Amino acid sequence: MLPNSLKSAQGLLLDLNGVFYVGNRPLPGAQAAIAALQNSGLPYRYVTNNTTQSTASMGQSLQAMGLAIAPTEIVTAATAAVMYLKQMDKPKIYPLVAEDAKQDFAEFTWSDTDADVIVVGDIGNDWNYRLMNRAFRLMMKGAQLIALHRGKYWQWEAGLQLDIGAFVAGLEYATDQTAIVAGKPSPFFYQIALEQLGMSAEDVVMIGDDLEADVKGAQDAGMKGIVLTTGKYRSHLAAKMNVTPDGELAAIGAISDWLT
Ligand SMILES: [Mg+2]
Repeated sequence: MLPNSLKSAQGLLLDLNGVFYVGNRPLPGAQAAIAALQNSGLPYRYVTNNTTQSTASMGQSLQAMGLAIAPTEIVTAATAAVMYLKQMDKPKIYPLVAEDAKQDFAEFTWSDTDADVIVVGDIGNDWNYRLMNRAFRLMMKGAQLIALHRGKYWQWEAGLQLDIGAFVAGLEYATDQTAIVAGKPSPFFYQIALEQLGMSAEDVVMIGDDLEADVKGAQDAGMKGIVLTTGKYRSHLAAKMNVTPDGELAAIGAISDWLT
């Protein structure tokens, strides 16, 4: 059964990780759903908090998995962070992000000693005391903290993985500062995605496997939010959260029939 909220959608925002793929594997029905989206004429964008790669590399990885998604169709947390940084007066940034992801911030001056802004993203196993302490010291000198996102955990092939939210929270705790969140669920992020769609919030439905970042974030921005029960979704964890999705889908493949 398709949720009624989905049937009335004039445009779609779609999460990627846990929706179209997990790890390096496409999820069942992902390719067909992408083809249906392309043929539907319905405006859509993929919206992701994945910050392990630059947007260009992400496009290549998706293609390698057989997912026909172009970088121009993806709005990333880095896209939003760059827009935010551009509003500032030529900030010097410390990109505490994965090596490949640094490409997205190439237009800014970088410094790890007197940065105005620290941009934190996923660095996987590279987290250590030295890096945390460097970020802490920059913040104590006045640097602002931009978190590409503050996810709690994410779904990998091997199971749930600790996400960067814990590191962001640690820096906030130690410095008595609050990070600015660039990616989902920030209203700023969803505003950028809506601008790319050229649509107003009430006509758009967001689909994702994260109740906070995807469903609640979209609802707070005025959209409908549908939860996909693949990826990181766990019913026992969802039951404890104060989020009521506008519908539920068992797999992304379910949108194919509706679109065609
Ligand atoms: Mg996801």
